[in-house]
Amino acid sequence: MSKPGYSDQQDRPEIARFLVDGMLGRLAKWLRAAGHDVVYEAPFDDLSLAERAGREERILLTRDRELASRKGLRSLLIQAQELDDQLCQVLALFPPPGIGARCMICNQTLEPVQLSAVQDFVPPHIRQTRKRFWICPSCRRVYWRGSHWQHIQERLRDCTEKASC
Ligand SMILES: [Zn+2]
Repeated sequence: MSKPGYSDQQDRPEIARFLVDGMLGRLAKWLRAAGHDVVYEAPFDDLSLAERAGREERILLTRDRELASRKGLRSLLIQAQELDDQLCQVLALFPPPGIGARCMICNQTLEPVQLSAVQDFVPPHIRQTRKRFWICPSCRRVYWRGSHWQHIQERLRDCTEKASC
């Protein structure tokens, strides 16, 4: 009794894939912090952006009305000026798939790592108070759930609450 085309592995929300245009770099970082797959490369001309979004099946986030209305392109026009409002607009449509799961700098999925392997990169007071650490397989940046992580989480929660009102 299986339905054609249905996959049992759909127990997690779809991780949206985004392409962010050159004017929205800070938004790109925060969306990664929320766990989304975000490519951001500036500067890109409109045609290259549209082509890449299509080729990689990414949703284009842009402030350019003309570009956003281009035919055959999945896009979202970002109108707000403030980062918080931009973030809320996107997260209302695409909820965070995993806060802190992705490197904010290079978009890679973080991997758990033992403290002993990264202790030289972790400040002493963090070593004493945190137990879990993650590393980016690309840039080797080490992450832990510190004040920064908490800030991200609170910010994202504010957005989600605003969106559900
Ligand atoms: Zn990285």
